[in-house]
Amino acid sequence: MLSTMQDVPLTVTRILHHGMTIHGKSQVTTWTGEPEPHRRTFAEIGTRATRLANALRDELGIDGDQRVATLMWNNAEHVEAYLAIPSMGAVLHTLNLRLPPEQLAWIVNHADDKVVIVNGSLLPLLVPLLPHLPSIEHVVVAGPGDRSALAGITPRVHEYEELIAGRSTTFDWPELDERQAAAMCYTSGTTGDPKGVVYSHRSIYLHSMQVNMTESMGLTDKDTTLVVVPQFHVNAWGLPHATFMSGVNMLMPDRFLQPAPLADMIERERPTHAAAVPTIWQGLLAEVTANPRDLTSMANVTIGGAACPPSLMEAYDKLGVRLCHAWGMTETSPLGTMAHPPAGLSDEEQWPYRVTQGRFPAGVEARLVGPGGEHLPWDGESAGELEVRGPWIAAAYYGGSDGEHLRPEDKFSEDGWLKTGDVGVISADGFLTLTDRAKDVIKSGGEWISSVELENALMAHPDVAEAAVVAVPDEKWGERPLATVVLKEGAAGVDYEALKAFLAESGIAKWQLPERWSVIPAVPKTSVGKFDKKVIRKQYAEGELDVTQL
Ligand code: ADP
Repeated sequence: MLSTMQDVPLTVTRILHHGMTIHGKSQVTTWTGEPEPHRRTFAEIGTRATRLANALRDELGIDGDQRVATLMWNNAEHVEAYLAIPSMGAVLHTLNLRLPPEQLAWIVNHADDKVVIVNGSLLPLLVPLLPHLPSIEHVVVAGPGDRSALAGITPRVHEYEELIAGRSTTFDWPELDERQAAAMCYTSGTTGDPKGVVYSHRSIYLHSMQVNMTESMGLTDKDTTLVVVPQFHVNAWGLPHATFMSGVNMLMPDRFLQPAPLADMIERERPTHAAAVPTIWQGLLAEVTANPRDLTSMANVTIGGAACPPSLMEAYDKLGVRLCHAWGMTETSPLGTMAHPPAGLSDEEQWPYRVTQGRFPAGVEARLVGPGGEHLPWDGESAGELEVRGPWIAAAYYGGSDGEHLRPEDKFSEDGWLKTGDVGVISADGFLTLTDRAKDVIKSGGEWISSVELENALMAHPDVAEAAVVAVPDEKWGERPLATVVLKEGAAGVDYEALKAFLAESGIAKWQLPERWSVIPAVPKTSVGKFDKKVIRKQYAEGELDVTQL
């Protein structure tokens, strides 16, 4: 029997319309570096998004599912693009401004982007690439920045404000199929070419609802969220859509992502929530330790994208800021888990739950798969590769405009689950603890050593600012851990024996203790601020590290 219910497509258009009317007074505040930040209400954002849609269609010829790219910081205009482009039936393609230029060009060509909306301050990155981007017909420039480099370039150039000025404030939004493409985002391509994930209207809508649930970020129109995670990194973890759905105010840092301006904007604008990767929180902690600021408005913060060291969580607890650990990936939209402890526990009892990656929501099914393909029990001990499925999880990668979507065997199981490449355990009550990425795990004499566990233990040492542990070849054991550490400013020097003893005291098994050590000036980071371990492995292989063997 079919249901008797209406079948209204779940689309970004509905999120746009809802936010600009029901939550018209909520605001997007963009940091400008000037004494006053820039403020725009959801009603204004919605009207300007409508004007942008008219301009894209009437002036730039976007009349179907063409890709419109953005090369932008987090700011109000980027939110307008987020809402306008999918709502008109086109596909928003956010470009990661920290990728190497040749990768960026590869991605634009693969996606066949027709238009790029770029922040003026990013023109020095875009303009030299334009001769290699034959599909780009129009460049739309928004916000401050020197325009002189644009003289004589081939694609037509438009000023964002002039382009949208005076356009109609209504648009005949098409009724879209909810399964249609709304936005795309490429993974950073650590191995091989980058892979494009294409989000549907439906996946974005359902994911936004999950983001807004209390068991996830749980924000309302009483909140202001500081969106540090870039809009080019998995849709800023879904926040621009989720906030428009619930009227949550957004505080956007634009290009002011350094610890000092972030601390200033928190103290001044008093956001109640923020979202960023651990590196940002490490930097901010060092900043407020040196120059104290009041961060207490941020009662609740979402931290993810890489493992959050428990020592970082403790340090923020002392500042009155509670970090909530989350796991996800580009392929999972990204919300996969969040670490809210179960009800009825004391602070002490909550702790072991808070340091896990968290619990799966109803929309994300999970299983652990062992080396022989067997499904492992959820007993908190059996470690395997995490596989997930659900309505906001990718089923394939974009195959290019002429090709079929791609389902590489190492990324998708035969029965359609996503192979995450993450290794971990799940407890009987559904909390995930990741021990490693499959490619980072250290295989020593047939046993696995978790690089993340060693790193977390090392980062709890008072002299250690950051630590990254990688597998290096070893004649006897196959692989052994190499511990690279960044010392805190003012640390007296390094005593590797003492660090090793500290690891042993913190409960690391003797056979897992690293014998190779190196002090490095900084841990190399990927384009989205995660530890880039392949760079350390390469530096080691090429003899560039000063390694002490104990
Ligand atoms: P990439 O880092 O390859 O650019 P993503 O941003 O999609 O791509 O990263 C997803 C990966 O980041 C996950 O597969 C996982 O390895 C790692 N990750 C994300 N959140 C966490 C977390 N809370 N703890 C540990 N690892 C995490």
